[in-house]
Amino acid sequence: MNCPFCSIPEPVLQNELAYGFYDIYPVNKGHMLFIPKRHVDQYFDLTSEERQALDELIFKGKALIDEKFNPDGYNIGINIGEAAGQTIFHVHVHLIPRYKGDMEEPRGGVRGVIPDKRMY
Ligand code: 5GP
Ligand code: ZN
Repeated sequence: MNCPFCSIPEPVLQNELAYGFYDIYPVNKGHMLFIPKRHVDQYFDLTSEERQALDELIFKGKALIDEKFNPDGYNIGINIGEAAGQTIFHVHVHLIPRYKGDMEEPRGGVRGVIPDKRMY
């Protein structure tokens, strides 16, 4: 299987079931990804233990990003399926730090998955 996330060279964080590492093409400084160690395509196929491990690591990632980059906010997102924009089919949770002024009008945040619908 040719999965880029089955061989992450240097995870920044890990626990028994999950890894955390920096996104190679970050949306913003400090953008991290969290994956289960087991190769699973989609979030809805994870076990509850894997979801818990991911959640625990996301909180550790948040603390790390706060300390290193001091952002003003965060977006958490998971693309599930090609129609939703998933490009790597090994579940990953995006933790994207946000900085005041990183875009002109941030209102709507993750609603921006469909750009025309971001603001309501
Ligand atoms: P998706 O669109 O599937 O939700 O997100 C895939 C993410 O993986 C993208 O944000 C992309 O920048 C990141 N990415 C792609 N290839 C690699 C890689 O080899 N290493 C790391 N660290 N991130 C990657
Ligand atoms: Zn994989």
